[in-house]
Amino acid sequence: MQIKEFPEIFKAALPVLQKIEAAGYEAYFVGGAVRDLLLNRHIHDVDIATSAYPAEIKQIFDRTIDTGIKHGTVTVMYDDASYEVTTFRTESGYQDFRRPDHVTFVQSLSDDLKRRDFTINALAMNADGQIIDHFAGLQDLKYQTIRAVGNPEERFHEDALRMMRAVRFMSQLRFKIAPSTLQAIKDNHQLLKKISVERIRDEFVKMGLGKGSREAFQVFLETGMTEDVPGFAGKSKQLSVFSKLKYGPSIEANLWSLVVVLLKLPDQAIASFMRSWKNSNEMTHRVGEIVRFFDLVSQQAPTNYDLFATGLETVMSTIDLAHILGQPIDSAALVDRYQSLPIKQQRELAVNGSDLLEAGIPAGPSIGRYLHRILVAVLDGKVNNDKDSILTFLSGID
Ligand code: ATP
Ligand code: MG
Repeated sequence: MQIKEFPEIFKAALPVLQKIEAAGYEAYFVGGAVRDLLLNRHIHDVDIATSAYPAEIKQIFDRTIDTGIKHGTVTVMYDDASYEVTTFRTESGYQDFRRPDHVTFVQSLSDDLKRRDFTINALAMNADGQIIDHFAGLQDLKYQTIRAVGNPEERFHEDALRMMRAVRFMSQLRFKIAPSTLQAIKDNHQLLKKISVERIRDEFVKMGLGKGSREAFQVFLETGMTEDVPGFAGKSKQLSVFSKLKYGPSIEANLWSLVVVLLKLPDQAIASFMRSWKNSNEMTHRVGEIVRFFDLVSQQAPTNYDLFATGLETVMSTIDLAHILGQPIDSAALVDRYQSLPIKQQRELAVNGSDLLEAGIPAGPSIGRYLHRILVAVLDGKVNNDKDSILTFLSGID
């Protein structure tokens, strides 16, 4: 098979391949970019595999970054773009079912392709657009199948993360997993326990946000992988709701919020659950806010102060979460109410603490309490947000 017309991103990368070839080495486009080109999907970065050693690549190009010299990867800056150029390699001595202990540089492309996870990810393309396909990846692309390269059992023992990657690609590409590959996941899911949570999380998030997240989540459950990731063991009944949803989440904060709601985690358990997945403090905080506001609007109409304190971003995420869960809230009304709030930020309030001191309120905690009462009154439209009106209001309350 030969690709006649390269998309722009490959056209831009072509000189990099040609320069390596002109220096006497082999070079190919490999991995996800070739797969996505053939699937007509958006290509986000173009990776290159070469017979040249990292030091040789650094001699060919003026601007390079030592990204992972030990693993054979040099980033080449060319025109306005950057490319990861990796020396052909095999990986050996996998200990503890995770990353290889050493990589060995090899001279042939086919040895390099052999170490790759799935047949659809083991395709290469040369500068003429010829597709190199040693593992019938083209056929698997055609039949929309994710299939391990070689013996799936062995491949998952080498690196158990590949099991997560299988469901991740299933979701992103809306492919199915080949029966023998699926069986090997069912038989070996417990190997996931050896993998760092960060690596599992990254694949989990990609799975959860893919177009086929519902189908992939079902397989994630059925294979038993959910038993080996933080906080999911024994929760298959609650989690199975995910696969029945009409829509999947499209932003990460909502994926986690959805999971937290499905798991029915009490408020005080949210942060530790989020941290058990090694999520950032920021993500943990955001998810807490969304879930709390979701619980609130599920029970009662939020007050103006609730809307103000929650902020538009969280209000919007909550609307989306409710939509995903099939509990639509009147989103237009909620957004309208938010937009009509007389102020959106505390600093927009026409008085501050020192104004209250000047007005004779004694220093101390009462300042905060008065400010809060003023804020609520302004938000509810009971007092105009100007200093005179507020001070008049203040003189009338106890
Ligand atoms: P994406 O579009 O998400 O970047 P990708 O296929 O490029 O998808 P990467 O994680 O960027 O995925 O990896 C690049 C390539 O490296 C893959 O296509 C695959 O050939 C190989 N690869 C990545 N991770 C593994 C792994 N754990 N085991 C074997 N091969 C892998
Ligand atoms: Mg990639």
